[in-house]
Amino acid sequence: MGKLAKWLRMMGYDSLFFDGEDDSQMVRQALAEGRMILTRDAGIMKRRVVNNGQLKALLIESEKPERQMQQLMATLELNKNLRPFTLCLECNHPLVERSREEVKDRVPPYVYKTQTQYMECPACRRIYWRGTHWEAMKRKLEKLAKTNDG
Ligand SMILES: [Zn+2]
Repeated sequence: MGKLAKWLRMMGYDSLFFDGEDDSQMVRQALAEGRMILTRDAGIMKRRVVNNGQLKALLIESEKPERQMQQLMATLELNKNLRPFTLCLECNHPLVERSREEVKDRVPPYVYKTQTQYMECPACRRIYWRGTHWEAMKRKLEKLAKTNDG
């Protein structure tokens, strides 16, 4: 599910990742912030707040991130509201635009030479650019979306 959270962030969907222990805290926060819960835990689906529609939740069927993304794309129509390159993949914080000069000393020289668009996470200070990693993820998502249609 951690990988799924990263993919959702890459698509521009504000996503928090909880790894297990405290379901009640997760449910409270989802209610407070109007979030939907994506879970592999069937127990969550039986909760009263889910049954009465107060809290939206979706049971994720597969353990495989690819299959999980396909399920999400099919049920939530994720392709319709894509805002790629807007959230930090690591901490979910909104990214801010940076000029090439601003990041000059913080990215590898070959990146500086070849990339013109940069974003920075104000929380963890990571710099993002539309490099190979981002392109690879984007291609993967496009492939998943296609598989889904057929
Ligand atoms: Zn960050």
